[in-house]
Amino acid sequence: MTTIDNDKVAMVHYRGTFPEDGEEFDSSHGAEPLGFLVGHKNMIPGFEREMMGAEVGEKREFTLTPDRAYGEKDDGAIQQVPRDQFPPEMPLEIGVMGAAQTEQGQQMQFTITDISDDIVTVDFNHQMAGKTLRFSVEVVDVRAAVAEEISHGHVHGAGGHEH
Ligand code: ZN
Repeated sequence: MTTIDNDKVAMVHYRGTFPEDGEEFDSSHGAEPLGFLVGHKNMIPGFEREMMGAEVGEKREFTLTPDRAYGEKDDGAIQQVPRDQFPPEMPLEIGVMGAAQTEQGQQMQFTITDISDDIVTVDFNHQMAGKTLRFSVEVVDVRAAVAEEISHGHVHGAGGHEH
């Protein structure tokens, strides 16, 4: 029996909820199962760790504190930016998401969290940072990865990259 382990391709159906109120934030049900290459940082660390050794048909439920999910919120990632530095076409409202480019050319996503007369507060933390997440996961398939998938670090074919 093939079980979830490093360099295996796992296909799972999952449902993610916030444990405080049970609100669902993500789910694969009603869509294709999620495929990931185990041991290549395709998933948040706690998710893979909790699914290690699971076999096809097995269901697991677990709760991940932020350190095992998207990390704690970093206050240094919250910045105050003069309003005139935003493109004029961008709607400046609390909750609006945008992307900024770093000097290295990397895209950084942010969310507007506060607005005053001429200062806009933006938060570059991942939207799930600081949150405890509950997952309910069912293993649909496990197979050995092919060499090309291992060298690319991601899944090809169904549920994965097309190229
Ligand atoms: Zn590839």
